Amino acid sequence: PDPSVTGPKRVLLAAPRGYCAGVDRAVIAVEKALEQYGAPVYVRKQIVHNVHVVSELEKSGAIFVDEVDEVPEGSHIVFSAHGVSPAVVQGAADRELQAIDATCPLVTKVHREAVRFSKQDYWILLIGHAGHEEVEGTMGHAPERTILVNDPDEADRIEVPDTENLIWLSQTTLSVDETMETVRRLRERFPHLADPPSDDICYATQNRQVAIKKVAPSADLVIVVGSANSSNSVRLVEVALEYGAKAAYRVDYASEIKQEWLEGVSSVGVSSGASVPEVLVEQVLADLKDAGFDDVEIVKTAEEDLMFSLPKELRTTATGER
Ligand code: SF4
Repeated sequence: PDPSVTGPKRVLLAAPRGYCAGVDRAVIAVEKALEQYGAPVYVRKQIVHNVHVVSELEKSGAIFVDEVDEVPEGSHIVFSAHGVSPAVVQGAADRELQAIDATCPLVTKVHREAVRFSKQDYWILLIGHAGHEEVEGTMGHAPERTILVNDPDEADRIEVPDTENLIWLSQTTLSVDETMETVRRLRERFPHLADPPSDDICYATQNRQVAIKKVAPSADLVIVVGSANSSNSVRLVEVALEYGAKAAYRVDYASEIKQEWLEGVSSVGVSSGASVPEVLVEQVLADLKDAGFDDVEIVKTAEEDLMFSLPKELRTTATGER
């Protein structure tokens, strides 16, 4: 125990945290595909952005590839939760791959919006991070009509071919506050900018940010479990700092928690990204308990009970939906 802290040492455990419905579905899709077709099953990109999940699935016989041309013809391939462009679907069909599409339905929703609004001659300002797989997939649905806007500063700089027919869409895993700032700055320049019919930032991303905002002001330290390439996990660290956490770090595993982070700390906030299995959080809580943080208070800001049915290729019986 740290002698510099005299009061009770507590954990503020954010809820909701961890797995969202889209990640749960995507991971089960790979497991089911392995069961149904036998190993190996190929997966294009990381099924979800979590190193632990990927390594566990690898042990069960999944092979992760970057592109469909690495997959032997005729094999089974799962498309990740982040979604794919029509070009990738075509590439898989050209190789006669048996595709199982684990794209999160909430990403598919954004794809459909991109197709619909581009057909209506809108220019789409897609707020999202260059190079992220979800952004590549969404842009691929309307490649001629989409302009990527990375952040509020880029909103001040981008050029558009037509200032009248503009609509904004977004990646599902962004910071809600930063996205609203980007939209505000876009609208200052382009007053005709139309809003999407509903939020593109998904319920899971929003709920995890709301919970960490409640935890952060009382936390000397926030630990977010999640991988470096997990957009929503990285956003949770940023949001925690913006909302008053004295320090915030992201870890893949409890073993990455450094002793010096805990020095002088009496309250530790804990959360996890939407691609993180709860077992990794449990390990963090166990290590914190060993360090004297044995009082765990759950800070709950929403109930989540959404579930998606499995990709249609894996629904073996009429009642086989999960
Ligand atoms: Fe779907 Fe949101 Fe989960 Fe991404 S974070 S898989 S969009 S529910």
